Amino acid sequence: MRIILLGKPGGGKGTQAKMLTERLGIPQISTGDILREAVKHQTPLGIEAKKFMDAGLLVPDCLIKDLIKERLSQEDTKDGFIFDGFPRNLAQARDLEQISGDLGFSIDKVVYIDVPTEKIVRRLSGRRTCSCGAVYHVESNPPEEQGVCDACGGTLYQRDDDKEDVIKARIEQYEKQTKPLIDHYDEKGILVTIDGDQPIDDVFSEIMKKIGA
Ligand code: AMP
Repeated sequence: MRIILLGKPGGGKGTQAKMLTERLGIPQISTGDILREAVKHQTPLGIEAKKFMDAGLLVPDCLIKDLIKERLSQEDTKDGFIFDGFPRNLAQARDLEQISGDLGFSIDKVVYIDVPTEKIVRRLSGRRTCSCGAVYHVESNPPEEQGVCDACGGTLYQRDDDKEDVIKARIEQYEKQTKPLIDHYDEKGILVTIDGDQPIDDVFSEIMKKIGA
């Protein structure tokens, strides 16, 4: 199954992608995670991407297209994948249509996780992340021991772009660039809308039901 997760930053895409990966046995492809790894290792992509990420802006489409092509050339994506954070605008959706045409696959479902904007700032500013990819929230999903990852014992940190000044820019980018994708995929008949303002397990159950998995 090939799935796109769509929704506001902090709307639960990463959390649900990890749960889907476990249940369906297909990889999560998070462009944000790939970019953060590139920044950490100071690769040419990371150095270029960092200035956009720090400002809460989208990284240029051409860089993202190359990154996606390279990731989809890897064997583990052959039976399906979950896109988390891609595509982020109509140009990227068209790039994906071109890539999928070339590689001979199509997207089965686009899962739009709908969370009211007023909940987003609270979610993002309380989010804590581990370098292993696990994500927590200080109130709604805390780790067993404060500041320590349940999964790997690593130290949790707050992403630089989860600080309040950058959050505003990220929400603006979402409204301007990413939101039009909802209509784009609805017109194609592959969009399902999920109420993201409910407990994590309930969101997951609704997704599983609506994608028919
Ligand atoms: P995320 O982890 O998905 O919230 O992404 C964090 C940041 O990485 C975003 O604010 C963007 O700067 C960048 N980013 C992630 N995915 C994309 C994408 N598909 N296109 C452009 N920029 C992206």
